This record gives sequence, C-alpha cells and structure tokens, in this order.
Amino acid sequence: MGKMSQARLRLRAELEAPPALRRFGSGWISGVLGLVLGVAGLFLVISLRAPGALAMPELRGLHQHPMFRIGLHVLLLGAFFLSAVSLALRRGRTLGTSGVAATLLAALIGGSRATALVPDPTPVFFGLDWFVLNVLFTGLVFVPLERLFPNKQEQGLFREEWREDLFYYLVSSLMVQVLTFLTFAPAKSILALAPMEGLRSWVGGLPFVVQFIAIMFLTDLVQYWVHRAFHRVPWLWKFHAVHHSAESMDWMAGARMHFLEIFVLRGLTVIPMYVLGFSEVAMHSYILLVYLYSTFVHANLGWRLSLMERVLVTPRFHHWHHGLEAEAVDVNFAVHFPLFDRLFGTYFLPPGRWPSGYGIQGGPVPKGYLNQFKYPFVRIRSSERSQPL
Ligand SMILES: [Zn+2]
Ligand SMILES: [Zn+2]
Repeated sequence: MGKMSQARLRLRAELEAPPALRRFGSGWISGVLGLVLGVAGLFLVISLRAPGALAMPELRGLHQHPMFRIGLHVLLLGAFFLSAVSLALRRGRTLGTSGVAATLLAALIGGSRATALVPDPTPVFFGLDWFVLNVLFTGLVFVPLERLFPNKQEQGLFREEWREDLFYYLVSSLMVQVLTFLTFAPAKSILALAPMEGLRSWVGGLPFVVQFIAIMFLTDLVQYWVHRAFHRVPWLWKFHAVHHSAESMDWMAGARMHFLEIFVLRGLTVIPMYVLGFSEVAMHSYILLVYLYSTFVHANLGWRLSLMERVLVTPRFHHWHHGLEAEAVDVNFAVHFPLFDRLFGTYFLPPGRWPSGYGIQGGPVPKGYLNQFKYPFVRIRSSERSQPL
C-alpha cells in the first residue's frame, strides 16, 4: 500500500475514532475543527485563484470584498491554531498534521491575498466556493444542534457512510450551474409559449407573506405527487431508492439524491413558481427555506415539537418516511404540510415513537456514489411490475 493511501486510512480512522478517543481534551475536537477549516480555507483559496472556473458568478463579487478576505484570513489562522492545539493534546499526530498541511498549502498558493491566475469566466464553472460556504454554514447550524439534542445519541459526526453523503454535497454544489440551467430552462420555455401577463402581475403584486405561503403550498402539492410517483413507479423508484438507501439520518443524509431526481424535483418546483409570476424575493426566500428545511427534517434531532407536528413536517415525520418498519413504507410524502398526507391517505405518525432504523429492507442499493449513479440504469426485472399510484 502506498504512503498516501496509508495516510488516508489513518486520517479516516482518526475521524471515525470511538467515543473514548473523541472526548473533550483529547485533541479530537480541535483536530477535526482545524482540519475542516484548513480544507475549507484551501478550497476557497483555490477558487480565488481560478474564479472563472471554480467560483459561482454570484459569489465572485464577494471575493473582492475586504470582509471576505479578512474572514478567510481569520479562518486560516483559526485552522492553524486549532491544529496546533490538537498536536499538543493528541497522541496521534494525524489530525493536527493534516490540518497544518492544508493551512500551509493554502498560504503557499496565496492565502487570503490570493489573486486570480485564471480570471476569465469559462463556459462551464463549478461551485467550489459554494460547496465550502454551504457545508460550513449548514454544519455550523446543525452540528451543534445534533450534539445537544440528538435523537440517536450514539451516532457520531463521522458515522457510517459520511464520506458518501459529503460527496453528494460536493457534487450537487459543484454542479450548481448545470442544475440551475436545467431547472429554469423548462420554466422559461413554458413562459415563452404562454406569457399569462395578467395573472403574473397579479400574483407578483401580492404581499410577500401571501406569496411565500402560496409557494409553499403549491410546491408541496406538486412535490407530494412527484414524490409518491417516485415511490410507486418501479423505474422511478430505482432513482429515489438512492435517497432511501441512507442508513443514518443527519444533516448530511438529505444530500444523498440521484442527480436525475434532483433535477426533476427542482425543475417541477421551480416551474409553478416561475410561470405563475411570483416575485424574485419570494422565490429566492423559498429556495433558501426549502434548502434549510430539508436539512432540518433529515437531521438527527430528537425534539418532540408536538405542536408544530400538527401543521408542519418535522424531523420525526420525515424520519418515519425513511423508517425500516413495514408500516413506514410509502407514508409521509409531504415536504412541508402533513395535511397532504392526511388528505391523500398516506399519513403515519405514531405518538412519540421513532423508527428503529433507516434504509430499505434487504439493502438493494449498492454502496458508493458511482455505483448508486448507475444503479437505476441497470435493467429492471420483469417481476417488478407497476402498481397503481
Ligand atoms: Zn421517499
Ligand atoms: Zn428524505
């Protein structure tokens, strides 16, 4: 085995260390934080070097902002300091050394003062900076909450298959351009065929709150049936089975979704919003909400939320959708309002109880991103026939 792969295995073993080796004072927390911030800083510096190819156009302006540069500087200093703390506290040096290496490399290629080497926009770009900001922000909100109020107490941050789910995060963030294009293109062509100006200006003129709630209702109604179709039509299920193959629920699990499903779901939610003429502010606020909300419902959060549960989808409601139990099959399709499941007869929420485990009985979906990407395209056996929706 090569030196690199040995180092990689050692690093993974450190991240997935048993609880006794992760306790406060062991240098694990500082080591992990140092490494995460170091790699985040390194990726941000790389995207500053090649903003044309590795930065989102919406974020390129932010790159030149003094606060962004100061923030990046503080991030790299913090990464270096935390890695040093870990080196002082921890017997194994893998975490600390990796954090220091990532930080030094980031400094070496320009650090917080990095200028663009390849400034010109390329026709295709990857949202590397988007990935970093995405994971840092979501992690910052949800990791502490999951530590404080876990449903499954024993589940660590680096649980089974965390690398796969993080990779899903990476792919969908990098592909932000392709996804946005594929999402808006059908909506734009519908609009070209049927302008509907009267309706659109009326909808766009409604108060923000009304528009926002209307979007939630409309998209949830559409998503309910799309989601249900993904469960009940066998060849669609193969795509959606990838999402259900997650055996641990947390803030990273929701990212696991077949590329085609992301595109179909986003496309079908954007079409009604866009075509009906909701205002940009209402649409963007909704997209932000749905992003945070879907992270929230997958999170390992044991909150009871019995009042909220009656009106809105909660982690427990969606966890039952992922439950291993026979009674959890094909229930709770709604994303925002359990009302739709009550209306269409698929509501299941036993008082106070959580599922015993997550995933699909028999584990038909293979492990690993590429295998899961290919999985739906493998021929369907004739025994798997269509059932009614
Ligand atoms: Zn589902
Ligand atoms: Zn889910």
